[in-house]
Amino acid sequence: MKLAVDPVACDGLGMCAHQAPDLIALDPWGYPIVDGGDLSEDQMAKARRAVRACPKRALYEANH
Ligand code: SF4
Repeated sequence: MKLAVDPVACDGLGMCAHQAPDLIALDPWGYPIVDGGDLSEDQMAKARRAVRACPKRALYEANH
């Protein structure tokens, strides 16, 4: 599993990065940067918390 962001839906307020700061960085404008690599089991739990925290459903799990 990987994390991905829909840049059109994203509001740039950074809620996701607060949930998973080690997986999601924010650019200077507050938009999330995800590295797109495969996540470990531990990381997946955090990633899912961040996905649930996204008010715009802009952050999602991608299989490839
Ligand atoms: S929580 Fe969702 S809408 Fe907010 S910055 Fe993250 S991806 Fe964008």
